[in-house]
Amino acid sequence: MTKAKETEMAIGKITPKQFKESIIKHLNSTFGTDINKASKKAWWNATSAALNEFVYDRLSQTQKTHFEKDTRAVHYFSLEFLMGRLTGNNLHNLGLFETAKKALTELDIDINTLVDEEEDMALGNGGLGRLAACFIDSLATMELPAIGYGIHYEHGLFRQEFKDGHQIERPDSWREYGNPFEIRRPESIQDIPVYGYVETKFNDAGKVVKEWHPGRIIKGVPWDVPVVGYSGKTVNVLRLWESRATNFFNWDVFNSGGYHDAHKENVESETISKVLYPNDETDAGKELRLIQQYFFCACSLKDIIRRYKRAHADDWSNFSAQVAVQLNDTHPAIAIPELMRILVDRADMDWDQAWKICRETFSYTNHTLLPEALEKWSVRLFEKVLPRHLEIIYEINRRFLESEVDAKWPGDNAIKSKLSIIEEGHERMVRMGNLSVIGSNKVNGVAEVHSALVKSDLFPEFNALWTDKFTNVTNGVTPRRWLKACNPALSKLIDKTVGDQWPTNQEILRDLDKKADDAKFQKAYMDIKHENKVALTKVIKELTDVDVDPSAIFDIQIKRLHEYKRQHLNLLHIMALYRRLLQNPTMDMVPRVFIFGAKAAPGYKLAKDIIYAINKVADKVNNDERIGGKLKVVFLPNYRVSLAEKMIPAADVSEQISTAGKEASGTGNMKLALNGAITIGTLDGANIEIAEEVGEENVVIFGLTVDEVKALKKQGYNPWDYYYGNEEIKAVLDWFDTDYFTPGKPGELSSIKNSFLDGGDPYLCLADFESYSEGQKEIEAKYKDKKGWARSAILNTAYMGKFNSDRSIQDYVDRIWKLKSCTVK
Ligand SMILES: *Cc1c(COP(=O)(O)O)cnc(C)c1O
Repeated sequence: MTKAKETEMAIGKITPKQFKESIIKHLNSTFGTDINKASKKAWWNATSAALNEFVYDRLSQTQKTHFEKDTRAVHYFSLEFLMGRLTGNNLHNLGLFETAKKALTELDIDINTLVDEEEDMALGNGGLGRLAACFIDSLATMELPAIGYGIHYEHGLFRQEFKDGHQIERPDSWREYGNPFEIRRPESIQDIPVYGYVETKFNDAGKVVKEWHPGRIIKGVPWDVPVVGYSGKTVNVLRLWESRATNFFNWDVFNSGGYHDAHKENVESETISKVLYPNDETDAGKELRLIQQYFFCACSLKDIIRRYKRAHADDWSNFSAQVAVQLNDTHPAIAIPELMRILVDRADMDWDQAWKICRETFSYTNHTLLPEALEKWSVRLFEKVLPRHLEIIYEINRRFLESEVDAKWPGDNAIKSKLSIIEEGHERMVRMGNLSVIGSNKVNGVAEVHSALVKSDLFPEFNALWTDKFTNVTNGVTPRRWLKACNPALSKLIDKTVGDQWPTNQEILRDLDKKADDAKFQKAYMDIKHENKVALTKVIKELTDVDVDPSAIFDIQIKRLHEYKRQHLNLLHIMALYRRLLQNPTMDMVPRVFIFGAKAAPGYKLAKDIIYAINKVADKVNNDERIGGKLKVVFLPNYRVSLAEKMIPAADVSEQISTAGKEASGTGNMKLALNGAITIGTLDGANIEIAEEVGEENVVIFGLTVDEVKALKKQGYNPWDYYYGNEEIKAVLDWFDTDYFTPGKPGELSSIKNSFLDGGDPYLCLADFESYSEGQKEIEAKYKDKKGWARSAILNTAYMGKFNSDRSIQDYVDRIWKLKSCTVK
């Protein structure tokens, strides 16, 4: 019997008829309407309520079991959780999807239309936030005791619209009409201090103690989102904190006549959880952001300690045995001095003992080597917002430099200034990366090549000091959302071929390799791909009004817009192809549709210019009768999880073309390959491991390697050499200065040409252009060989087992968390 079916039995063998009755009951008594009047939203709400009856039952069962067994748990601290929609996922994970589908069909409702009613929960920017979402899915599926901690943003990542080709940002109001998958827990509210000053005093024993007199207290209200594991046995929680004002009022300041001073410059309490910062891979360094970070870390630690004390009272000796905290990037690094503050100032513990607990508790995941993403806060800001934490950081730093660093490199001030948490200079800064490494038990990168670079280039001295601290955990994605739920037709074919246990054991898909050359299986597999492309064609028409042919190659690049990801390299090649077609309209070419999805950070000028340029080129190309529809370009607005779920099953080609050494791992590459897209990519991030797993003949690799990039930069890279050395590059770049794509407005696209030439082409697009163009020819040649292509696509699905987030979590468990699973009855 399959796991999913077992679950349906375990949760009461509900029939479609019973599910239908439950929906109708909720329509009536929970939402005050009936089957004749109900709006689409009401139907969705009622279905969610019917489903939640099972969710909440398993949630309390899970919490009860974890409490009774007093299990060690991991606490995943992340400023972002890019959850997407939950209805379909929860139905699938409970094994209720088919039941619900039948129930709704009897009510004359299409389940796919119904789930489209749900707004995405977009509490994240991109890969980092989506990784957190995949990880909590895996943790629950693997029956591991875990809590996700983050912020309950009122507005998630902005909604993107295009106006005349330009990106416009609109607020995201994901919970405007309520959200059935979250519960407020006012019984667990926390008070969080910020601002103010520190008083140095002597306690009764004559010891120097520090007392922080905060300038403001913020209330943290928890919202719990149930995280349903596949099979539905374990339901963990994602606990998100909403900020509220307290009745606290600073009478001291008020009485001394400083009413306005009491408010001035202070970030208002309720704005703290208002909005997610929309910067991906860049750091804004704003006061509100630091307060967001501290706010959710402080709430979460208090929550953890409250729970710990329920079982262990004031005995701290088991704390680090019970509590593991994973820091998703440096964003929650402030949790380290916060735990020190709690232990030293509040629990009166001595420093060494407190520091030992801290270091055993925390581990840190590094997500990027890009300098613009490495967080630093000015000492001045720290002093204002978190004065006591600054003192603690100084003390952590002093002890670290004077004992550990000096022991290894006696008297070496150069190394000390490099490893110091404080960066000296025009403005003194707190380096959150150094703090994270110093305060953690383990530090991991997110793909083999990235972890190697973390050791060799980012933190070489730390690695020399503590070799065992650094490790790798290659990222993964959950096959439940990214194959089973998003590609039901392919999932059913797989079930028929290798059985239906693969969602919890992706290695089973390996057996599909036996069918890779089987003509019947190839046809079934490629027919499904075609149907998925037909479905996407309709979405494209709705969103862009462009008609595309589903028999063309669907070539997809979906990810945040960033120079290092090189959407503009893709654009250069599209323009070159267009130019070749104009010069030779009868050129033999398999029709291709280039499909983009990407949001640019609102303040990232060049990224927005690239979006505009792609849209303008698309306009021209799509309406040019001379090229006979061989080339189409579409940019789908508002890329997000639910749109990814519609695009990925329809992809033939996956564009993973970052400059080698810049993409830490990538996870979009994994989702696309799993669904049978062939990767054209550089040897960067997890692409390297994907190529190893699926075989060199089933991907197209191009471009400079990490070492070649380093060598070229060292030798002195000059983009003008490529401009003058390659006639096609020159012609395409010069095109940007004309009004060919922006009639009557020459120069509108010039910033892109400038970035390649005067701007120095920092991401080496011109250096990689020729190799990329050759790679694209190889893609076309492969596609013409229908059988060869089908074989490669099938083998991609078959050999992606490693990139399952369950495997990532198992690596974290083995190498970092030392966690045991816990069966919930
Ligand atoms: C997977 C995913 C990403 C990450 O994509 P990369 O190609 O790895 O950068 C970003 N946004 C969304 C919505 C995703 O689903």
